[in-house]
Amino acid sequence: MSLPDFEFVRPRTLDEAVGTLVRFGADAQMVAGGTDLYPSMKQGLFAPRVLVDIKALRGLDELRFDPDGGIVIGALDRISGLAASRALAEHFPVLAEAARGIASPLLRNMGTVGGNLCLDTRCLYYNQSEFWREALGGCLKKQGELCHVAPGGRFCWAVYSGDLAPALMVLSARVTLAGPRGERTIPLDEFYVNDGIVRLAKGHEEIVTRVTVPAASSGWRGTYKKHRIRRSIDYPLAGVAAAMRVDGSGRCLEARLAVTAANPAPRLVAAAEALRGRTFDAQLVEEIAHEAIRTAKPLHTSASTPEYRRQIIRVFVRRALRELWL
Ligand SMILES: Cc1cc2nc3c(=O)[nH]c(=O)nc-3n(C[C@H](O)[C@H](O)[C@H](O)COP(=O)(O)OP(=O)(O)OC[C@H]3O[C@@H](n4cnc5c(N)ncnc54)[C@H](O)[C@@H]3O)c2cc1C
Repeated sequence: MSLPDFEFVRPRTLDEAVGTLVRFGADAQMVAGGTDLYPSMKQGLFAPRVLVDIKALRGLDELRFDPDGGIVIGALDRISGLAASRALAEHFPVLAEAARGIASPLLRNMGTVGGNLCLDTRCLYYNQSEFWREALGGCLKKQGELCHVAPGGRFCWAVYSGDLAPALMVLSARVTLAGPRGERTIPLDEFYVNDGIVRLAKGHEEIVTRVTVPAASSGWRGTYKKHRIRRSIDYPLAGVAAAMRVDGSGRCLEARLAVTAANPAPRLVAAAEALRGRTFDAQLVEEIAHEAIRTAKPLHTSASTPEYRRQIIRVFVRRALRELWL
């Protein structure tokens, strides 16, 4: 499989990048590390006439920690930088652990935070060669009219399969976007749309510039649990991020849970709020694990069966809460 032909543009400023995306409209696509986009182009999933490489944009690669202000992570920061950051490991362990488990060392060196947050959704019937897909007549997301995951439905179930978003969501991160109408910042969980085709609450010309985690989330206990086929180099097929603040007597002051790689969007588990003010309670842990599965609803979108992924999410929630709480 080789890359299709394209024109390559490398803007130096944010304004220039946004302007280029506006000028070429649907013919243009942004690329950062290219670790997700280039393989997808080889599979014929995207064929942009113009590739807008944003790697030369200045000021988008800061990783700034300030105990009073939280952490600012640039969209062009490499995943390897997050994985190696001492400040992150100390103050935001859930994020450091999620970063360390992404792909492989080479891909972490190339892959960026912005690219990770904006990953295309994945599905067993979509991430295949053109030849393979054509044999099935395509699917709702690409060149077809039928969903092979839920035949008869008009909804695309392709799954967001990134590791950083759930970890950032349990830390109440916010994402900043630059576009033709200026800059805007929204909570990260509002950035995702639970629809495999729409995916993101972002305009085509909007560029993610940074993510900020508030100081209030610093120092929380945290862990990230991930299921994947190849442990050395693979997208998650189910993931659970957990963060908790616990007082000296073991009482949970606040807790947040998020699931990834099960739905078109990474999702916070609302039931985790019930943990506030409680000391360890195995029955409550089981109830929260059950609610996490209800939030996750995995379908047949990957090589791992929905039944297995439901069970693994239950086990991950159980393990994560025990680890953080006891
Ligand atoms: C074999 C393999 C294993 C992988 N394993 C994992 C894994 O375990 N976990 C995981 O999370 N990911 C995994 N990935 C996916 C990928 O490597 C990482 O998610 C990486 O961080 C993507 O960043 P990138 O800069 O390379 O994105 P790109 O490929 O450059 O871009 C990805 C998408 O994001 C858009 N984009 C990029 N930057 C921006 C921006 N600043 N603003 C708006 N849109 C933007 C692009 O237009 C494109 O649609 C894997 C990939 C491969 C090939």
